[in-house]
Amino acid sequence: MNYPRNKEEVLERYSRVFPRSARVTYAPIVGVKAQNARVWDIEGREYIDFLSDAAVQNVGHNNPRVVNAISEQAERLIHFTFIYGFPVEPLLLAEKLAEIAPIESPKVSFGMSGSDANDGAIKLARAYTKRRTILSYLRSYYGATYGAMSITGLDFEVRSIVGELSGVHYIPYPNCYRCPFGKDPKTCKMECVSYIKEKFEGEVYAEGTAALFAEPIQGDAGMVVPPEGYFKKVKKILDEHGILLIVDEVQSGMGRTGKWFAIEHFGVEPDVITLAKPLGGGLPISAIIGRSEVMDSLPSLGHTFTLSGNPVTSRAALAVIEEIEEKDLLRRAEKLGKYTRKRLEKMKEEHQLIGDVRGLGLMLGVDLVKDRETKERAYEEARKVVWRAYELGLVLAFLQGNVLRIQPPLTIEEELLEEGLNRLEQAISDVEEGRVPDEVLTKVQGW
Ligand code: PMP
Repeated sequence: MNYPRNKEEVLERYSRVFPRSARVTYAPIVGVKAQNARVWDIEGREYIDFLSDAAVQNVGHNNPRVVNAISEQAERLIHFTFIYGFPVEPLLLAEKLAEIAPIESPKVSFGMSGSDANDGAIKLARAYTKRRTILSYLRSYYGATYGAMSITGLDFEVRSIVGELSGVHYIPYPNCYRCPFGKDPKTCKMECVSYIKEKFEGEVYAEGTAALFAEPIQGDAGMVVPPEGYFKKVKKILDEHGILLIVDEVQSGMGRTGKWFAIEHFGVEPDVITLAKPLGGGLPISAIIGRSEVMDSLPSLGHTFTLSGNPVTSRAALAVIEEIEEKDLLRRAEKLGKYTRKRLEKMKEEHQLIGDVRGLGLMLGVDLVKDRETKERAYEEARKVVWRAYELGLVLAFLQGNVLRIQPPLTIEEELLEEGLNRLEQAISDVEEGRVPDEVLTKVQGW
């Protein structure tokens, strides 16, 4: 094994062997070791991880309970196919997920990524309703497999190059900071709801629509939280037309927002939930949890993968759930989320660059603007903040080009959270006061 000696060598070898389709760069961190909210690079530099490794490490990097479960299970049985055999661990996990999900007596199926879970959900919706049309939201992200890519509403260059599934319609997501209907949330009449209602009344969608896919909080769109009552009103319209509500909890689930699933904040029972990222504590596992009659609508082998229902990934997920329960991490996410939000609001008072602070629990976004009146997105400044944060030892990213993504592990030590917030504020000041040169702009790619 030709183990690289330093960061430069890793970057150089990366560019030779990986295609650009596989990657996006925020800061060149060659992580070689991690523990809870700390990451160390190949040169021994320590970073605070405010991303939870892209919302994966809700219970912290290398959580000891997860590490033990993985190694203990790997010694006993790594794989025994779920398709023909009857491994016990996926059974235990499915039962546990059924217990915590806000759906009555659901059934569960497993995969390896958020993308495949969403693909499965598209198939389920079409099979159950015998309809084709899928409604999705503008600026949503559901994944990179063909189906998930096709229902994604973000600007996703690849779709126009390779083609996509037909029968997908997009509607605007409710956004009280940048209202797509140009309204003010204090005086609006929830035009975001009447828009959907009108579409159905005009029978544009009603007959052939199978499902609405929704992130309860839009993650990659910049941590957009719908207003109170929105999902209840939408669910009512969907129910009137026999349309399923499929919620993607890939980023917002597993305690991130202070509840197991973010949709629980809105008092609505979805028909199907998709789950991945933090579920396996860093191992590839996804789940679809849905009403049993919906889950039973696909024929045998309709959504199976050789490596899904894997005993090791299932044990890792069971350990993640145990950790959340035993350490009371739902409450901790809520408490630390409130504290972080307060500090970010305070930063907003002192830094004109911050236009909006939003989110739930530890799923927070800081919207950087050039001007608070026009809300023009501060793209270059966001790049500079992320780069400066990296120089200060803080792992950070932006969404939509200008929204800082604040998603530390739910287990982050309070002092480390404080230190991370101090570094973030320092980075913002350094950008505002012109201490970060323009040449860093070419080093940060992001999306
Ligand atoms: N859904 C949401 C809401 C996501 O944030 C992501 C990943 N960013 C996905 C689906 C895709 O998950 P994966 O990368 O595991 O396929």
